[in-house]
Amino acid sequence: MSKTKQVLELSSPSMKTKHERLTGLVQQCNYCCGYGWFWSRDGAYNSVKEPCPMCEGTGKMQPVITIEWKPVCQDK
Ligand SMILES: [Zn+2]
Repeated sequence: MSKTKQVLELSSPSMKTKHERLTGLVQQCNYCCGYGWFWSRDGAYNSVKEPCPMCEGTGKMQPVITIEWKPVCQDK
């Protein structure tokens, strides 16, 4: 099975901000293998499709990453 991987290169901000918010590439949901649902049973034992709790039925996920930049602590 192929997997989508993304590498982040971090570089300290050139603007006066200590927080960055990055959105990564859309990837297949690995929890449901991209199907978006699982088989389940309802109260009458009928097979029903339950949406994946991770991707909410889309079969895809996207990382949203918040980065906080801090000054280096100076040891005395
Ligand atoms: Zn999923």
